[in-house]
Amino acid sequence: MSAFFTHLRSRLHRSWRGRRHGAQRWALWVLLVALVATLLATLVWLAGRYESSQIQSRLERDAAEIVTDIRAGLTRNIQSFQALQSGERTLEAWNFPATDLLRERRELMRLEWRNEALDVVAQVGTPYRSPVFERLGRGSVQADINLACSTARRLSGAAYSSSYFVPQSDGLGFEMLDMCMPITVEGRLVGYTVATYSLQDVLAELVGKQLARGQSVAFTEADGTRLALHGTPSRGNRVYVAQQLLDLTGNTLVLRLESRLGLPSLFPNVLTALVGALTLALVCVLYLLARDMRRRQKVEHDLGDALAFRKAMEDSVLTGLRARDLQGRITYVNQAFCRMVGLSAQKLLNESFPSSYWPPELADAYYQRQKIRLAGHNLPREGHESVFMRQDGTRFPVLIMEAPLINAAGLHTGWMSAILDVSEQRHNEELSRASQDRLQATARLAMVGEMASLLSHELNQPLAAISSYAVGSLNLLDGTATLHGAVGADLQLAIRRIADQAERAGKVIKSVHNFVRRRDQAHVAVAPQTLIDAIMPLVSLQAQKLGVTVVIDIDAGTTQVRCDRTMVEQVLLNLARNGMQAMQITAPDMLQMPDMPEVSSRVLTLRVRPGSSPLKAWVEFAVIDQGVGISAEIAGKLFTPFFTTRIEGMGLGLSLCRTVVEQHGGLLDFQAVLPRGTMFTFTLPAAEP
Ligand code: ADP
Repeated sequence: MSAFFTHLRSRLHRSWRGRRHGAQRWALWVLLVALVATLLATLVWLAGRYESSQIQSRLERDAAEIVTDIRAGLTRNIQSFQALQSGERTLEAWNFPATDLLRERRELMRLEWRNEALDVVAQVGTPYRSPVFERLGRGSVQADINLACSTARRLSGAAYSSSYFVPQSDGLGFEMLDMCMPITVEGRLVGYTVATYSLQDVLAELVGKQLARGQSVAFTEADGTRLALHGTPSRGNRVYVAQQLLDLTGNTLVLRLESRLGLPSLFPNVLTALVGALTLALVCVLYLLARDMRRRQKVEHDLGDALAFRKAMEDSVLTGLRARDLQGRITYVNQAFCRMVGLSAQKLLNESFPSSYWPPELADAYYQRQKIRLAGHNLPREGHESVFMRQDGTRFPVLIMEAPLINAAGLHTGWMSAILDVSEQRHNEELSRASQDRLQATARLAMVGEMASLLSHELNQPLAAISSYAVGSLNLLDGTATLHGAVGADLQLAIRRIADQAERAGKVIKSVHNFVRRRDQAHVAVAPQTLIDAIMPLVSLQAQKLGVTVVIDIDAGTTQVRCDRTMVEQVLLNLARNGMQAMQITAPDMLQMPDMPEVSSRVLTLRVRPGSSPLKAWVEFAVIDQGVGISAEIAGKLFTPFFTTRIEGMGLGLSLCRTVVEQHGGLLDFQAVLPRGTMFTFTLPAAEP
């Protein structure tokens, strides 16, 4: 039962531990997944950032190229203007190529030839639009032109005015920019060429063709105000912006290039695609790992169950199990083995020779035996007997069976021994031998019984004869009593005693007969005093002969006892006799026992005391002598039938006494008394009042 609870407890403990491990494992998995997810997110983010930085730098490059293109276009125009002025300075000679130029360069809105005082000498407008200054007039921008032209004159090159808005009649308008270029003849200023650009057309003509879909280009002021735009303006947050300065003499414009990201696709570029693929692969690997893990967990669980089963099995067997490795170190012991030798598993494990459960006197022989065994020779499969020692030093016989330990790879790794404690077996063998002896003794006893029965039968008649002769003699003496006086009275008493004893002897023989025949004894309630009185004549007779004083000590509260009177009288008589004989010490006896204390008198005490337990009341009889006492060697055999130290003794007295007392439900025992002597006690059940 307790083994079952231990098993249950260990299982519960294991399952709790298992749950804790499970939780830990889950936590690890969650952590792993979280880490992988974070890593992937970071990768995707980095990839995205890299991608956008790529786009951004491409855009910056594009913006720079656009600025270069615009600058190149403007420079080419300046060259055309110079060509225009280098010719003959007549109106006709100017008008024709100027008109051509305007037709050719759509970004130009208007071309003016002005004199040194900046008055318009000739002008042509673009053929592509209705005259742009029609509504506002040219005068409103005169100040700007003046400024640009003075800069141009100072630098003797083309200079630009700040931009201005020219509203149109259709409600729209253009952001315009004027360029002024001085005309010199042999180092002398003779006039100016003023060209008016539409900023939007500059963008459309000089940049427009290169613009990709989704891109727009605009001129803005430094504060971000848009002046002109080409392309569709982008909205939303996936818009990239690059700005470049277009530094013109007299004016600086900001070019703003905007690019909308292409249609959002799942894998915008290779990098993101790669990261995506990696993610997918990682998720797959995670899934496979999880599946593998689940399988492992199942196997682990099964293995745990199998182990627990094996452990319960090992713990429940009574056979001690011990494993040694090839060097002889103990690698495993089960609980039964630990219990057997009284040592803990911790103490035993890894222990080499000599083992702590080897009796020191046998250690050498055992060591030799182990050496032979470890060398691989001489393996008795049927087992051999040995003697082990418990921790408290007691030795006990064991039967050892050994087998080689072969591991999963088929390698011989050590020895497994099964050890049986055979002390119980030996004890039982001992007991059966003793009981056999007892049986033999009983058989002899039975024979003695038969003899006693025969004797009692034979003795009954002579005893009856003695009795009737004694009675007859008494009757005869009765008539002559007066004749003989005192002698006659003594004679009468003696003959009456003879008659009494003959009757007693008859009863003894009868009860012995009954006892031997195992007839039901007549149990009667009788006072202890009566029992003692009955044996006193015989006891006194022997006491006188041996010089012993008999003391009778009966407790006043003693009740009657229920017993077979004659048998109990016999027990008392036997014990009293033994006691008196023990006090009959001869001189050679005294010499043999020099340390025996001296006593002046020889006293035999017959003591009766009441006793009780909650279950029943009893009376305790004690026969106390001051004799030689009982040595330990004799004490062991005291109750054995036929054991005696006396030449004339039968050795049946005490064994019979014990049988009688036990048949009455009592106990016969003895103990030494100080300074010398022995006390025999026996109990008898008290008679119910
Ligand atoms: P027996 O009377 O024939 O010797 P018992 O069975 O009565 O047989 O006694 C067996 C032995 O026990 C005796 O021989 C004696 O050595 C010892 N013994 C018995 N009673 C006493 C006693 N009171 N004191 C010392 N030895 C005793």
